Amino acid sequence: MFQPTLIVAKFGGTSVADFQAMNRSADVVLSDANVRLVVLSASAGITNLLVSLAEGQEPDRRAFQLDELRRIQYAIIDRLQQPDVIREEIDRMIENIAMLSEAAALATSTALTDELVSHGELMSTLLFVEILRERNVAAEWFDVRKVMRTNDRFGRAEPDMAELSELATSQLQPRVEQALIVTQGFIGSESKGRTTTLGRGGSDYTAALLGEALRAKRVDIWTDVPGIYTTDPRVVPTAKRIDEITFEEAAEMATFGAKVLHPATLLPAVRSDIPVFVGSSKDPAAGGTMVCNQSENPPLFRALALRRKQTLLTLHSLNMLHARGFLAEVFNILARHNMSVDLITTSEVSVALTLDTTGSTSSGDSLLSQALLTELSSLCRVEVEENLALVAIIGNKLSQACGVGKEVFGVLEPFNLRLICYGASSYNLCFLVPGNDAEQVVRTLHQNLFE
Ligand code: ADP
Ligand code: ASP
Ligand code: MG
Repeated sequence: MFQPTLIVAKFGGTSVADFQAMNRSADVVLSDANVRLVVLSASAGITNLLVSLAEGQEPDRRAFQLDELRRIQYAIIDRLQQPDVIREEIDRMIENIAMLSEAAALATSTALTDELVSHGELMSTLLFVEILRERNVAAEWFDVRKVMRTNDRFGRAEPDMAELSELATSQLQPRVEQALIVTQGFIGSESKGRTTTLGRGGSDYTAALLGEALRAKRVDIWTDVPGIYTTDPRVVPTAKRIDEITFEEAAEMATFGAKVLHPATLLPAVRSDIPVFVGSSKDPAAGGTMVCNQSENPPLFRALALRRKQTLLTLHSLNMLHARGFLAEVFNILARHNMSVDLITTSEVSVALTLDTTGSTSSGDSLLSQALLTELSSLCRVEVEENLALVAIIGNKLSQACGVGKEVFGVLEPFNLRLICYGASSYNLCFLVPGNDAEQVVRTLHQNLFE
């Protein structure tokens, strides 16, 4: 039976960080009977520990990190009324993690990393089910890998929509009708059954994908801020909450680094027109942001986003002016290395670009391999500049408005702006700045455009 009222609720790491946070999140779940599917991240800090273990550590460091991990999860178990059964299950998981970490110290691989890292979400969901059961709720644990079929690009796997839809309909839908289901964000499995992950922060994407597959009425993203703000409130404390925002605007924000949503989250939402709500599990009464397909009078300037750790490649053609095929050859090489270009500006004999790091891998690997650089160097002179930050102004009809350039660049006089991209999209204007100036640039712009 199709349930037009189903709500998928996702809780991020801080919302399941400890016993108290898990109980607050349980309150949120239980406050709306339409929430039938709960998607969780790992408890805060766990994924970082697992990623580090997957990089291969010396025995001492490994033991320390395993202790730290055990401490975080035991702090939750110790406060349960009946901790024994669940402690055994978590102990088994930690034994597994220890074994895989030892293997990683001998030889790492992306498949091993994903297998290891997936334990964070497996553990948090087991613990959350127990919290709900102690509150007399018939909650059921579900292994999302049964339905989240992906390709085998470990670390940033892509879901197979057709298979996901079929598997979710046959395996998840009937369960959701019977009980409150708790499942893992971020992880999936490829055709041979090996565990994959969707890239850091991928649980938001899982929630949206499952919402789409089950034709949910809404997807709720519960995090540590009561909504989407005009910019990261950690960088600009005076940032304002946006009550209503369109899919396009929010997608631009996520793509350009607003960590509050994983960049791919809105793809399923737009495709299937499912509203996404963003709120704080610490303060659900504070309300939040509704992302939907229309908002009244969308403003010229909507928000600012910041993406750090950008690498700028400048490629100078070795041939003389008017050489044909240079850009085509550059793109060919990038495509062969499975890289997509993010921002680009060109002149007759050179091209400057940044590589798309959207949904970076679970291990945070650099995208710029030596093999890619070597191949590019055979064609052109390659300049690499690191530690830059991308600042994006998100808005509406930006390329049609007059005076945007003056308003934006007039106040940024003290800063060295690079690779300005304006005009290709009417939703954004973006540029690179030295990493150390990034926050100051965002504060200055915020003050002038939003305060
Ligand atoms: P979760 O673990 O719940 O997924 P994240 O840390 O991934 O949470 O995302 C929430 C964080 O996103 C906030 O604490 C905030 O610092 C950051 N953030 C960045 N840009 C924005 C924005 N425009 N609005 C709100 N939060 C933002
Ligand atoms: N636990 C994963 C991470 O830390 C996924 C997520 O939180 O969304 O990246
Ligand atoms: Mg997140």
